[in-house]
Amino acid sequence: MFAEVIVDLSNASVDKIFDYNTGDLNVVAGQRVYVPFGKFNIEGFVVRLKEDTTYDKSKIKNIISVIDDFACVTEEMIELLHFMIKHYHLKYIDALRLFLPAEMRTGKVKSLSKKVVEFVGNKQEIIKTLRKNAKNQIELLNFLDNNKKYYKSDLNEKFSSTTVNKFLQLGFLTEKDEEYTRSPQYLIKEDKKLNHTNLQERAITQILTGGEKTHLLFGVTGSGKTEVYMSVIEDVIKNNKTAIMLVPDISLTPQVLSNFKARFKEDVAILHSGLSAGERFDEWKRIRLGRARIVVGARSAIFAPLTNVGIIIIDEEHEQSYNSESNPRYFTKDIAEFRKNYNHCPLVLGSATPSLESFNKAEKGEYNLIEMPVRINGKEMPKIQIVDMLGEIRAGNSCPFSRTLMYELDNCFANNNQAMLFINRRGFSSFMRCIDCGYIAKCTDCDVSLVYHKDEDKLKCHYCGKRFNALTICPNCKSTRIRQGAVGTQKIVEELHRLYPNVKVLRMDNDTTSVKNGHQKILEEFSNSKPAVLVGTQMIAKGHDFKDVTVVGIIDADQSLYQSDFKSVERTFSLITQMAGRAGRNEAEGKVILQTYAPRHYAYKFIANYNYKGFYSKEINLRETAKFPPFTTIIRLLYSGENEQLVKEIIKANYNEILNLSNDYKEDFVYFDAMKSPIGRIQNKYRYQILIRLKQDNAREIIDKIYEACDRIQNPKVSFFVEINPASLS
Ligand code: ADP
Ligand code: ZN
Ligand code: ZN
Repeated sequence: MFAEVIVDLSNASVDKIFDYNTGDLNVVAGQRVYVPFGKFNIEGFVVRLKEDTTYDKSKIKNIISVIDDFACVTEEMIELLHFMIKHYHLKYIDALRLFLPAEMRTGKVKSLSKKVVEFVGNKQEIIKTLRKNAKNQIELLNFLDNNKKYYKSDLNEKFSSTTVNKFLQLGFLTEKDEEYTRSPQYLIKEDKKLNHTNLQERAITQILTGGEKTHLLFGVTGSGKTEVYMSVIEDVIKNNKTAIMLVPDISLTPQVLSNFKARFKEDVAILHSGLSAGERFDEWKRIRLGRARIVVGARSAIFAPLTNVGIIIIDEEHEQSYNSESNPRYFTKDIAEFRKNYNHCPLVLGSATPSLESFNKAEKGEYNLIEMPVRINGKEMPKIQIVDMLGEIRAGNSCPFSRTLMYELDNCFANNNQAMLFINRRGFSSFMRCIDCGYIAKCTDCDVSLVYHKDEDKLKCHYCGKRFNALTICPNCKSTRIRQGAVGTQKIVEELHRLYPNVKVLRMDNDTTSVKNGHQKILEEFSNSKPAVLVGTQMIAKGHDFKDVTVVGIIDADQSLYQSDFKSVERTFSLITQMAGRAGRNEAEGKVILQTYAPRHYAYKFIANYNYKGFYSKEINLRETAKFPPFTTIIRLLYSGENEQLVKEIIKANYNEILNLSNDYKEDFVYFDAMKSPIGRIQNKYRYQILIRLKQDNAREIIDKIYEACDRIQNPKVSFFVEINPASLS
């Protein structure tokens, strides 16, 4: 037998499938193996077995050994691998690595076993043999139950290892190794059995009886979508199938997890970035071996090694974080669509603010639209008030809080309630600038301005993480008149401390949540404090269900509105709508204060009226007129490298190839140009790009030809990536 093997090396020149002889080994497709490669023995993956090979048989080497006693990669995932290679122009090994816990490949984590002891003696008999003053032994004996197992390490800790070993010697205990699963601990609440509302019942029925459709579940915040997901999963499990439920990483809150754990117990495995390497590996293995049939996780859980998938759910489907923006780049929805077709199961996309693309597909009948337009408890959505910040400045208020917001905060705290303030910028202020000559502090390795972090009194680059001393003297003109730009989370916290010294102020952003369980600790502290205010970036906009939040303040709504990509308005709409949904979830009425310098922007009018469909119509028309997705496909070819001249050469060569191609498809190329990237340098690598917009009809075919054209001329010193409909063009 011969095996096609992908070797675990990330070198462009080995991005091929190699043939090996299986020898007398029993190998299955998907298994990890050791193979000789050049001078070394390395890990590889068998992707196919075959009777014959077209290579010279005398030169084909033998597989040395198999690594695991099971196939790491299922048949479905091998097919998915081929799909991804072609679709996203990835290297085999880069795509394959997505399917396994990283730590497993490098051999850093393994299955653990622990010594387990079992009590096999007779208490009455033994007690007679022990000395009266053998206190430890008597205590241990009293502790032990017949035929019950204990981790030896636990007993050692409680009663000393000498005592435990003594019992082993005397034959009161037997000892053996047992596999031990590291599993993340969650606070598990009781499972609430809820009577479904009519809307929930209808949604559940449509999903369960619709066959292999894609459904768009469009339900306002608090409409009870989670209960719909859980009921559908329950049914799927009863039919002996498995389920994947994706949520954005930041909404994997203890709340959501404990709901799932409460209902599905050991049947659910959880994959997210907060797990330790060992926990991730053990959860993965539980899934692969069929011990957990439900996977709840962030983006990468779409690669969960389940077989016989009965449903795939993507909650908050509009979220950017579902698209991987660094190599290997992929769209979670494409992968979900592939697995849905492979398994013939339904796919559910849920959101209170669906992406324009998805709603457009629902409109065209490609997706089945299910609507849940009211909140569970029939409560009104909180009122959104737009405040013109230019008016504040004219009235002499230069503080980041408008008078309206301060009035509401005063009330909120006086009534012992909670508030959430949203600002999409971490750090203290966005930049430091010299008033006299306009100099702005920039990173030495990246062409971006630095962000001031007051707690460390440092300037930080948010692209590469480098730190610099804060500016006191302008290096350009020696002026000491240095000013800070727009405010960030730290500055807001400082202002709050000053204005409300008796109110608990908490901050949640990338800087405060980098420690393990950082999110959870902040959220717990917030939910246990009153009056209190939580200041944060978009992390606080998702999924939290705090009963006593009566005020939500959007400090600077425009921040995301003016980012220079075609999705910025759409993103602002959903971000603010999600944020507003945090207010007034209980009896007390909620208020949302939206501060802006552009109060008449159409997005804000639709937001204030919770008019998603109105917004959708307006925005989709604009997209059509301007020829942006979903009416076209944007392709960005990104080139970067330390040698700027070389980068330019390669991009020039590729540009010319595509130019030829575009002559064959004149009608389809709506836009085509090469340029320096908006951020011209990151980590000392120069960045250039080709931007293309293609009409939808032949896009797939042309993209494949663009890949081919680009592959003809590349250089190992220039990294090259393809992005389709990228969220950011920076
Ligand atoms: P969404 O995900 O749509 O924003 P949630 O699933 O968080 O909404 O539901 C909001 C709240 O309503 C939760 O506290 C949930 O426990 C509760 N809930 C959901 N369905 C029901 C029901 N049928 N009866 C009573 N409460 C419900
Ligand atoms: Zn200066
Ligand atoms: Zn930098």
